[in-house]
Amino acid sequence: MNIILLGPPGAGKGTQARFLCEERDMIQLSTGDMLREAKDSGTEMGKIVADVMARGELVTDEIVIGLIREKLKGDKKGGFIFDGFPRTLAQADALSELLAEEGETLDAVIEMRVDDEALVSRIKARSTCGGCGDVYNDNTKPIPEDGKCSNCGGTEFKRRADDNEESLKQRLMEYYKKTSPLIGYYHAKGLLSSVDGLGEISAVKADIAKVLDA
Ligand code: AMP
Repeated sequence: MNIILLGPPGAGKGTQARFLCEERDMIQLSTGDMLREAKDSGTEMGKIVADVMARGELVTDEIVIGLIREKLKGDKKGGFIFDGFPRTLAQADALSELLAEEGETLDAVIEMRVDDEALVSRIKARSTCGGCGDVYNDNTKPIPEDGKCSNCGGTEFKRRADDNEESLKQRLMEYYKKTSPLIGYYHAKGLLSSVDGLGEISAVKADIAKVLDA
């Protein structure tokens, strides 16, 4: 089963993708994570995308499609979860072609609905474990009092460089302008389901499970 988690930054796509990996043996393909990795390891491509990412703009379709193309050739396990990809109609078209080349199909697109106010407060409060990438939130899922990640025991927590007010504004603008048209696109293809992304993490997880098990 191959699915897309669609939603603005801070909607909870990464958190839910991690559950699906653990429980359904799926593979999370987050273009944001791949680009951050390239940036941190200082590759040529990483250098090209660093400023664009810091500003909260989208990197070129060509770059992210190339990243996804590579990953689709690998082990498919229980299927792919596309997280933060596609973000433009051109990327959506490319994804259909890439999946077809691999003899795969897209089975569901789950839109995670959240309002802007909640996004801003979530993003300002979030951090991730440097060891395993588990996502924490100062208000709803604080880092344990002993300072250790409850998943891997790691003690280093990072805040993303682009989780600041200015770049967030730009990221939301990019989402509404370039990514939200995908909601209509996948609705027309009969693939779209929507869940309320504002609920408790466990409630959102249950709603997603309902869609996938239907
Ligand atoms: P994310 O972790 O998904 O919020 O992505 C972080 C940043 O990486 C975005 O603000 C973009 O600059 C870039 N990015 C990630 N995925 C894509 C994509 N599919 N298309 C274009 N830019 C992307």
